[in-house]
Amino acid sequence: MSKVIEEFGSMVFNDAVMRAKLPKEVYIKVRATHQNGKRMDIETANIVANAMKDWAIERGATHFTHWFQPMTGITAEKHDSFIEPGFDGKILMEFTGKELVKGESDASSFPSGGLRATFEARGYTAWDPTSYAFIKDNTLYIPTAFCSFGGEALDKKTPLLRSMEAINRESLKILRLFGNEDVTSVKTTVGPEQEYFLVPKELYDKRPDLIYTGRTLFGAKPPKGQEMDDHYSGTIKTPVKEFMRELDDELWRLGVLAKTEHNEGAPAQHELAPIFTTTNISTDHNQLTMEVMQRVARRHGLVCLLHEKPFDGVSGSGKHNNWSLTTDTGINLLEPGDTPFENAQFLLFLSAVIRAVDEYQDMLRISVASAGNDHRLGANEAPPAVISMFLGEEITQILEAIEHNDSFDSKEKEMMKIGVHVLPKFQKDNTDRNRTSPFAFTGNKFEFRMLGSSASIAGANIVMNTAVAQVLREFAEELDGVVNFQKALHDLIRRTIINHKRILFNGNGYEDAWIEEAAHRGLSNFKTTPEALVHYMDEKNVALFTQNKVFSESEMKARAEIYFENYCKVLNVEALTMVDMVRRNILPAASKFAGDTASNAACILSVSPDSDTSYEQDMITQITDLISKTHKTVKILSDVNAQTKSVTDSQERAMAYKDSVLPVMEELRSYVDTLETLVSKEYWPFPDYGDLLFGVR
Ligand code: ADP
Ligand code: MG
Repeated sequence: MSKVIEEFGSMVFNDAVMRAKLPKEVYIKVRATHQNGKRMDIETANIVANAMKDWAIERGATHFTHWFQPMTGITAEKHDSFIEPGFDGKILMEFTGKELVKGESDASSFPSGGLRATFEARGYTAWDPTSYAFIKDNTLYIPTAFCSFGGEALDKKTPLLRSMEAINRESLKILRLFGNEDVTSVKTTVGPEQEYFLVPKELYDKRPDLIYTGRTLFGAKPPKGQEMDDHYSGTIKTPVKEFMRELDDELWRLGVLAKTEHNEGAPAQHELAPIFTTTNISTDHNQLTMEVMQRVARRHGLVCLLHEKPFDGVSGSGKHNNWSLTTDTGINLLEPGDTPFENAQFLLFLSAVIRAVDEYQDMLRISVASAGNDHRLGANEAPPAVISMFLGEEITQILEAIEHNDSFDSKEKEMMKIGVHVLPKFQKDNTDRNRTSPFAFTGNKFEFRMLGSSASIAGANIVMNTAVAQVLREFAEELDGVVNFQKALHDLIRRTIINHKRILFNGNGYEDAWIEEAAHRGLSNFKTTPEALVHYMDEKNVALFTQNKVFSESEMKARAEIYFENYCKVLNVEALTMVDMVRRNILPAASKFAGDTASNAACILSVSPDSDTSYEQDMITQITDLISKTHKTVKILSDVNAQTKSVTDSQERAMAYKDSVLPVMEELRSYVDTLETLVSKEYWPFPDYGDLLFGVR
């Protein structure tokens, strides 16, 4: 057998392992939990825990950890060993159902957005049996949800699971209306394409901005950027190839379906795309992928940058979230079928997504908002901050035909009788041409392209799932019990198209003309995180999440607080890092260079009084002028940051960071970047963009 086949998932306590290791009746119960979210009794949990432990110990594990996803955006873990005291001073290796199912954790060390004040500081982690346990670093990892003792979600997984329940519930209602009785569960599936940069570690270590903030806060543009388009899918350099191979090996052992590895648009930029799976597992796997990428890179003398915009002037990194709905009978509900009946169902689900994206565009924008992602979405870069949907030519024509009550094709007049149009044999490739759309239909799934590269995919998927669930519920209410189902269906689809077609746009999403047009259509355009976040608690959004039981209002308040806080923290660290780099490295280096240049000029003139020292003169004039501007601006930045930091209300503070701190950071950068082009490379204290972007050879 191929080594890959043998090793794939070898560190995962997956279905095959459970089938082999568990008594049949226990296995059946576990499967019921896995498939339909049935609660597991403690006897069953004990048996599963014991089997898990034996399996893990055989693979060298000595510890276990509940693995969870607090609001920090990265994962957290608390390790315990399996050992228990036995007789005669010996030890036993134990792991009980109770330890598997529930763990305690000190919630006070994680952001809670104020939920802590009203509830106990302790939190607990609860096993998520819908995602498999795995072994990493001799530790058995148990995916868990993280809640306060009051039951309020303190993490990203709890609401994600709730949103999956909501969309399952509402999709089933729709399927029943179509007479489908076989399907017992509907799950959303996701394949997240992950972009990242790789830079040499020895250069990274010399850049405090990369170390503290994940992005370069200074850096003049190198002579070459990405204008030659020669990096994208070009030959992969040997060190990168070796990194990718090892990354695949590690991810495969963990059961992550890493599928495609290639170069991206910018120099030093790459992408990993996994094969899609259930959203919950996909979210866990994406977190693992980001962790493993960073670890494997280090082993190859590289550092993996996951920031959305590590370098000015070249593309930033995103995460394309490919999303669809699949039944437990294996049917993709966004697959246009071959028969009018399937088409009608497809068109209804498609309409639901269109309406959900239009009605909850603010919430979708909020779900991808972060200080890092502002450098992509708000700037002149893919994709814009305005949400629109691309459906491709064929689907657009069909929707237009429905809107105008035309038949799509004369041959299909007959089909019109049943109320919906038949789709022509569908060409998937037709839909994948628009790369500028933030939200594109790509044949049998939607690709949401606004996610930032460093973010958990949970946030965006919580919104997607909940918004679509909400619309499906309203659809089901409207269609339930009608006399003429086909007519009601047709009318509903038609009305949805008419009411929500403003969100559809097939043109170039980067052009200024579109931004203007979007404003005419009344679409939101929140360029920055604080501008988006102020809408988080809008009545409509609170209603969306509370009605679908995804968040309570107090959970939402807590989250809004955390998001505003996060934004402020990022900007504060960036501002302080800039001040530090300028004062301790950049100004001293520039001053030394100017001084040495002045001495050189004096020296030259003393030997040869008629010499041309215009280079030295020019440099001294220009550099001292820039030094003076840098010096003044760094003082302003330091002061304004201190003032802003002391604003008590987090929303006001975030706005102040955007309006008062960010512009000073930009001004400071412009002086420093010009200085960098004048000061001798030998004197410049940091590796430059050319070194970082073209350093891996
Ligand atoms: P490309 O975007 O390069 O054309 P694909 O469209 O085949 O490649 O796939 C892109 C990503 O979308 C992959 O991660 C893939 O697994 C995922 N994907 C494909 N089908 C689905 C689906 N039904 N649900 C969610 N993700 C999917
Ligand atoms: Mg794609």
